Amino acid sequence: MAENVVLSVLAHPDDAEFLCAGTLIRLAREHAWKVHVATMTPGDCGSAEHSAEEISRIRRAEGARAAAVIGATYHCLEERDLSVCYNERALEKVVRLFRELRPRVVLTHAPADYMLDHEMTSTLARAAAFAAAVPNFACDRGHASALDHVTRLYYCDAAEGKDLFGRDVTPAFCIDVSTVIESKAEMLACHASQRNWLLRQHGMDQYLETMRAWSARRGRPHGVPFAEGFCQHLGHAYPQDNLLGELLGALA
Ligand SMILES: [Zn+2]
Repeated sequence: MAENVVLSVLAHPDDAEFLCAGTLIRLAREHAWKVHVATMTPGDCGSAEHSAEEISRIRRAEGARAAAVIGATYHCLEERDLSVCYNERALEKVVRLFRELRPRVVLTHAPADYMLDHEMTSTLARAAAFAAAVPNFACDRGHASALDHVTRLYYCDAAEGKDLFGRDVTPAFCIDVSTVIESKAEMLACHASQRNWLLRQHGMDQYLETMRAWSARRGRPHGVPFAEGFCQHLGHAYPQDNLLGELLGALA
């Protein structure tokens, strides 16, 4: 039987560590799933002191180090910050990755989030989940064979759990990550270049504490210390069973 693979497709290095790393860790530790963490960009604009090329090199290495904490593999799809677009080039890259890794579960950004790189990544992952199973899509690009079904897709929380109008978003269900919160923090701590940047640009002065606070907020309604929120894509042709929730115990 093919091995069980989970893939997160998010915009920037450190997005997974905020939004879904606890869930990835639990799939790896409790169910022996292979974990892959992909980002659309190397975070090339996430610095006020390094050139785009320098900070990209630093952040690719941070992403790889963070993934290695849990035995996962990091992939950078080499689009550029503030320029992630729904176009053929980007979609082809995401579909290629899906066909190569053949994930049973894909996690991506919320469709409505605070910035467009996140929303475009969400759209790309949604389209790729469908397109990877269409044999004639990009069939002349040297991909692995098309998948035999549409990939199971979940949307992570929007940043701070709110949409672009500041309205609270409600996850369809949450996953308890209390037992793995220290490993999640250890992964996030690998993104050392981001602490100063986020203080300057986002006014976020407590990098790890912010992640803990977001996770605690999702845990509170369910009476657990820390959780992560998700919504499953349940449109026509997408798998309807909540495999993630069944494996890890959906809190709804
Ligand atoms: Zn991001």
